[in-house]
Amino acid sequence: MAKLCIDDLEIEVVPKKIKNIYLSVRPPDGHVRMSVPAKMDQETVSFFARSKLPWIKNQRAKILARPAQLVPEYVSGEHHFLFGVSYELKVTAQTGRTQVELDEDQHINLTVPPGSTREQRQKVMMDWYRRQLKAVIPQYLEKWEREIGVAVRECRVRRMKTKWGTCNIRDRRLWLNLELVKKSPACLEYIIVHELIHLLERYHNDRFYAYLTRYLPTWKQLKKELN
Ligand SMILES: [Zn+2]
Repeated sequence: MAKLCIDDLEIEVVPKKIKNIYLSVRPPDGHVRMSVPAKMDQETVSFFARSKLPWIKNQRAKILARPAQLVPEYVSGEHHFLFGVSYELKVTAQTGRTQVELDEDQHINLTVPPGSTREQRQKVMMDWYRRQLKAVIPQYLEKWEREIGVAVRECRVRRMKTKWGTCNIRDRRLWLNLELVKKSPACLEYIIVHELIHLLERYHNDRFYAYLTRYLPTWKQLKKELN
């Protein structure tokens, strides 16, 4: 991955198997990214970027002035995270099956029936998020169960307001917050490790943190990233 600097602006350049240049300015920090045809020469790329400079600056100004998006509407142009990566949402209204798909240019393509409500779109997204999270949990769970030498009977996902995860020690059941699907996989792993360690130590005491540090020395960083 290369970087292009024009004036004091940094542009991330990502060569891809595509025909046209695709330029995007991303929230929340106004990161500029250009997907370019793999064979395109540096000069053409740089010329293109320069010609788009006023547009880029304008987009950046808009993004940086925008308050953090608290309640998404699930409409085109919004940015939503999956496993720590920001994707631009593209909503298509179409009768038939609802669908969510990722594409190569970091879009989440959401297909919903015409006239859908915010609640309907949110439900489709949440169901999709839930499937994405459930698909990756077993690999981390198995790895850390082996590593720590514990076993859970069940790991479930739900939306939680104040916690990233909980562990029911008696039933050996883990609950993970659905919001973890938006965080980096390392953060998800951290929560899984944290909850599994509760099977060795119920309380957040010295013994608990000694285990945590032993199994995941970087946990403090991950905790910071998460909150
Ligand atoms: Zn805990």
